[in-house]
Amino acid sequence: MDGEQIETATLAEGGANPGSASGFSGPDQPEWEDYSRCIRCGLCLNQCPTYRELGVEMDSPRGRIYQMVQVAEVRLALGETFVRHIDLCLDCRACETACPSGVEYGKLVEAARAQIHQHYRRPLVERLLRRVAFQYLLPKPMSLRVAAALLRFFQASGLQEMIRRSGLLESFPRLAQLEPLAPAIESPSFFPQIGKVFPARGERRFRVAFHAGCIANVAFARLQEATVRVLQANGCEVVIPAGQICCGALHVHAGLREEARALARKNIAAFLREPVDAILTNAAGCGSTLKEYGYLLRDDQEWREKAATFVARMKDVTEFLVEIGLTQPLRPVPRTVTYQDSCHLAHGQKVRQPPRMLLESVPGLRLVEMPLADLCCGSAGIYNVTETRLAMQLLRNKMDAVNSTGADTIATANPGCILQLRAGVKLHGHGQRVAHVVELLDEARAGE
Ligand code: SF4
Ligand code: SF4
Repeated sequence: MDGEQIETATLAEGGANPGSASGFSGPDQPEWEDYSRCIRCGLCLNQCPTYRELGVEMDSPRGRIYQMVQVAEVRLALGETFVRHIDLCLDCRACETACPSGVEYGKLVEAARAQIHQHYRRPLVERLLRRVAFQYLLPKPMSLRVAAALLRFFQASGLQEMIRRSGLLESFPRLAQLEPLAPAIESPSFFPQIGKVFPARGERRFRVAFHAGCIANVAFARLQEATVRVLQANGCEVVIPAGQICCGALHVHAGLREEARALARKNIAAFLREPVDAILTNAAGCGSTLKEYGYLLRDDQEWREKAATFVARMKDVTEFLVEIGLTQPLRPVPRTVTYQDSCHLAHGQKVRQPPRMLLESVPGLRLVEMPLADLCCGSAGIYNVTETRLAMQLLRNKMDAVNSTGADTIATANPGCILQLRAGVKLHGHGQRVAHVVELLDEARAGE
């Protein structure tokens, strides 16, 4: 693409935020032991979606690390230019997979964002929206339920369809861009299931706890139910602990680490009350952060051991199902499926084969690989909302890859990717179904 279409910047433009301190200070700084491992080899560049699209060194992993070093050494202000390049990063961690030097880039960019959150004053509207999302919506189940009910009314009453057809959105290009990304709210929500225990079907082999997340309980309630059914069908008693809450992944990605720590403590307390063999999630983005609670709470004397116990039990549902082996009888699902790696599963958790193995175990299902399956689809938490234009370019490329396979179904293992890919099918697809791997396993359950 033409790099000029996306508002970016170069180092030479400078742009310090008036009144902000230069350099990093306070908690959660990018650490020298992490960024000094970068040997500037450039092997990560072509794996980086933003560099591939923009062709700008400062929007590559190497360029962003360079800027962090410059800020740390007080040669570059923690200002508008730095913030823009760090904002444009998807935090997809494809660079970690590519790096021969073991740079843990996710830690670096998340710490850089924590510094930005502490020291950089964003425009008023942005600050307000972030406050609403991160403080009043995601961590508050009741607020989420109210917001979901309003959105559900908008969608189910025909208002949404009427606005779509009226052409009104053409006068509001930003809203028109975001509209295909809005999740369809599912009713009933999954929230009432929190606190319940679901028995294993047949002999109980394992007892597991399910982390249900936040938005997924209203936008992916049927996926949540399918996850519980598949686990039950494979001999698991499933407990959904009361007191659990949003995992804090979006907070971590946005630099709100104190808020993320508060959520982590609540989740750890809720889940460690239950004697279970594993703690599971069906959301790769959440799983990546849930597995990093130990790192998040490493300086917390009271919680770090509890966090380590929690992390030792934490697994993505696909890796757990492969570990225990499927025992559910399977009937044929005659579909041609292509699998999109979720970045936070493939790059963040290094889980690549389990979802593919599960799909391949379904009779009648043909798995076809798309080119660059582990390149980000543009979803990346709330990136598709905050950086919609670049996210949509990435989605366009992803859909070209999907369409080249001839698959009738796109499988993935993360609700955020499902939303983005559904928008991709609407905009550029051929009517493909987009489903979580677990939903296809649920469809394949036989004999019940
Ligand atoms: S996390 Fe993704 S977008 Fe960010 S620098 Fe690494 S590869 Fe590029
Ligand atoms: S691959 Fe690793 S060491 Fe090489 S430039 Fe990228 S981050 Fe640095």
